[in-house]
Amino acid sequence: MEHQRRDTRLDLYHDRYAARAFGMKESAVRALFAVANRPEVVSLAGGMPNIADLPLDMVADALSDMIQSPAGPKALQYGSGQGEPMLREQICEVMAEEGIRAHPDDVTVTVGSQQGLDLITRIFCDPGDVVLAEAPSYVGALSTFASYQAEVVHVEMDDDGLVPERLREAVLTLTARGKKVKFLYTIPNYNNPSGITMSLERRKQVLEIARETGLLIVEDNPYGLLDLEGERLPAIRSMENDQVLYMGSFSKTFSPGFRVGWVLAPHAVREKLVLAQESATLSPPTFSQYAVSTYLKVHDWRHQIVVFRDMYRERRDAMLKALTEYMPAGSSWTHPKGGFFVWLTLPAGIDSQAMLPRAVTNRVAYTPGTAFYADDLGARNIRLSYCYPTPERIREGVRRLGEVLNRESQL
Ligand code: PMP
Repeated sequence: MEHQRRDTRLDLYHDRYAARAFGMKESAVRALFAVANRPEVVSLAGGMPNIADLPLDMVADALSDMIQSPAGPKALQYGSGQGEPMLREQICEVMAEEGIRAHPDDVTVTVGSQQGLDLITRIFCDPGDVVLAEAPSYVGALSTFASYQAEVVHVEMDDDGLVPERLREAVLTLTARGKKVKFLYTIPNYNNPSGITMSLERRKQVLEIARETGLLIVEDNPYGLLDLEGERLPAIRSMENDQVLYMGSFSKTFSPGFRVGWVLAPHAVREKLVLAQESATLSPPTFSQYAVSTYLKVHDWRHQIVVFRDMYRERRDAMLKALTEYMPAGSSWTHPKGGFFVWLTLPAGIDSQAMLPRAVTNRVAYTPGTAFYADDLGARNIRLSYCYPTPERIREGVRRLGEVLNRESQL
């Protein structure tokens, strides 16, 4: 409130903004994160992929060869609003790794999957429409939904993912109240922030409910190929074509800097997505698309993903071990089978957002759980990322967090 009042007084343009601009909120913890980036602080807060294992010489050579080849002038020119045909074919090969059979015509290339979220929300949501999302859910998706003035209703999760009965209840109750439930947004693999995987049984049940109630599913799967236990579940999209929009990304399996993601959608939706993409960007960046396409052609990308998986597994294991050692009684945490995140539940009475400045003073940072809810839940939770720091730093960060928590219980 204080923050909003200050904005109103100082911003000379306040009265001119569209209503949707007020749905765009600065993260409550952004200022602290600037401090958290200081080298003495172990940051378990961000979700940056660790690209240290990418062979940069190979990337440099491939890009240089590409730019001097006949593809070069095309990479430096405007392109198709749907994305380059060659890359869309390669994207279908990547999706085949998760059991998805798709046609390149149904793929729209986006500026990261973040833009996929934006385009999907833009074409489906009017202000006041409902989007269902897991509790907790990805902060970047929640902010996109808010920017289109959609109302987010969370659906409970347990260790196997979304609870089907709660999903059915939500769809039926909201519809009976006259609400338009536009889609379910789900991250079935290694949910950001909870690290939870939706079991195969649950995937089938969720799909069953979607078919029964006519619910559209938006399946967001940037971490799917980063499974750490040798078990990969089929994507929901591999079981249903017409009611699922699927989003993928090269951010975690190659590099986030190129900002290349995609949406796989039924034909009619794909046409709307391309129109929305043209009005947003004319065409998604051609240079990035040729770069990613060349990488996939010249490099053994499947092996590269194995290398990434080995690195993330070591970090995840370091975090889980340190948590067992340093967390006080009354805390519990998830055991992710892939992805980047562990979701920590603190002993009763501790507020993770209030504690953050004290944690940063003790040189460790995390993301408070409240960031991942559209309502006020999550105060007893913390998202810990193991993707970026070394195993030693992770261990030290968790140790420092344990110190803070022990002090906190004595307050
Ligand atoms: N979805 C989820 C669940 C994510 O965690 C992220 C990135 N943190 C994104 C989408 C966006 O990724 P990108 O735009 O880099 O593809």
